[in-house]
Amino acid sequence: MQRRAFFKLVGAAAAVAAVPAFSACSAVSTPSAEGTGVLGQPAVSFSASVDVLILGSGVAGLSAAMDPAEAGLSVMVAEKLDVLGGESYESNAVMDVVGSKVQKDAGITESCDDVWPSRRETLRAAGVTDLDFAKRLFYAAPEWVDRMRDSYGAQFDDPATYTANEANRRRVLPKNGIGDTESIMMPLRDKLSSKGVQFSTGYCASAFILDEDNHVCGVRFVTGKEAPTVTDVHARAVVVATGGFASNQALVRDYLPAWQRVGCYTAASMGEGHKLCQALGAKLADMAVTPSLTSDLPPAAAWSMFAVTLVVDAQGNRFASEDYMRTLAATCFSEERGYFWTIFDGRISESGQSRSAAQITAKNASRVVGPCQTVEELAGNMGVSEDVLKKTWDRYSSMVSAGKDSDFGRLQFLDDLKPPYYALKQFPVRFRTRGGAVVDENGRLLDGAGKAIPGVYCCGAAAQGGGESLTTNGAFGIFTGKAVASDLGAA
Ligand SMILES: Cc1cc2nc3c(=O)[nH]c(=O)nc-3n(C[C@H](O)[C@H](O)[C@H](O)COP(=O)(O)OP(=O)(O)OC[C@H]3O[C@@H](n4cnc5c(N)ncnc54)[C@H](O)[C@@H]3O)c2cc1C
Repeated sequence: MQRRAFFKLVGAAAAVAAVPAFSACSAVSTPSAEGTGVLGQPAVSFSASVDVLILGSGVAGLSAAMDPAEAGLSVMVAEKLDVLGGESYESNAVMDVVGSKVQKDAGITESCDDVWPSRRETLRAAGVTDLDFAKRLFYAAPEWVDRMRDSYGAQFDDPATYTANEANRRRVLPKNGIGDTESIMMPLRDKLSSKGVQFSTGYCASAFILDEDNHVCGVRFVTGKEAPTVTDVHARAVVVATGGFASNQALVRDYLPAWQRVGCYTAASMGEGHKLCQALGAKLADMAVTPSLTSDLPPAAAWSMFAVTLVVDAQGNRFASEDYMRTLAATCFSEERGYFWTIFDGRISESGQSRSAAQITAKNASRVVGPCQTVEELAGNMGVSEDVLKKTWDRYSSMVSAGKDSDFGRLQFLDDLKPPYYALKQFPVRFRTRGGAVVDENGRLLDGAGKAIPGVYCCGAAAQGGGESLTTNGAFGIFTGKAVASDLGAA
């Protein structure tokens, strides 16, 4: 479409050199060309031009597309993988939020003001530094849920079906419970499509393209699996929404060395956007904030939030509260307990989470033990000492009778399991990082001096302050999309 000699590529050398580490970006043939600014890269040749180019199709990227599309701007969402959705689509979709209409309609009246003080302390303890921005996202999260339901067709479960206690009232679930991201992400994709948003899969962003004034005017992608090549897309604004870096072993080694021995969950979170933004002069912040760990069968990690379970380590010992799987997985790793078992009974299959229970146990039959009628039989099948498991069981039962978990402070579903019993073996994995590119409160990418880099935005887990959850990353996307539409004069 357009071929000029003075375009520069930023990030290309790093991206190409790092291809082996970026699983989704294949190596590309690089005939030499003058004028690209990077030796060995093909000359820039735009094959498409859009107003807004969004890198990454997770919840942040798709939410960032809403306002620009509604304002009539042309929007392209480029996704490196063959499927849309990224980590967001792989998530459990247990969405922390208070004050959404979904909750209000179910008679839940808690507000952000009620909950923020405790949330702030949790985030502070986790090492999050920009608590003002975290607050902004937390207060905007219900607006994201409302907009998703009312304008984008997302389907949520009625909280009345799962609010067995106070803690659960601060969450919303998709229509079919844990892991049903289809009910959230697909209507969003379809609605954006109907508003003219174009989706391109197999497009791995590898460099920013700069014009003669050193302004970003597009992005170079590595495209095509069989015969990788480059595709250049011209854009007035670029939104980097490429997710976190939990799966990039090199970045984890550099920033989070204590967690480099844990496996990771998804191929989406390779930190490509972090590196691209850095190459453009942006700073990375909060990169050393403790990453989250979960189960390598993530939906099972959420069962304890909705039904009675008992979690024990490879020896049969209880070691943390079942309320918080992230704490469980993190403790399992940090205390070198190897793996852990979630022991459950038939109630998970009778609960609103039956779909996730059926899917996980069917797909991972070799990791499931049961049905067992006695604790002894269960211990034998799990391969743990009968004495140890029996002792754990009796201790837990005594605390159920007392109505208080004096060992680990479990608050939810402190109840005895009923035979037949089952157990599912799981391993801790990394799944969420918090560090990313430094942006302003509306996702505008900042340079090292704190000045906005014209035309470039970053949101979700790729940015500092993102990474927390679907609701806050969705809200982050909305702020960013609004800023893009406004900066392009379309709001
Ligand atoms: C197993 C698991 C369970 C989770 N459970 C929950 C939960 O229950 N509740 C909750 O709130 N949160 C949960 N999360 C966290 C939540 O999924 C993330 O906070 C959120 O998805 C981050 O959204 P994002 O849009 O920033 O990133 P992502 O959803 O990861 O999207 C980034 C996208 O960018 C693409 N991309 C990356 N690099 C490039 C490139 N170079 N070019 C083009 N595209 C690129 C990726 O492939 C991906 O599709 C879970 C996460 C995981 C992994």
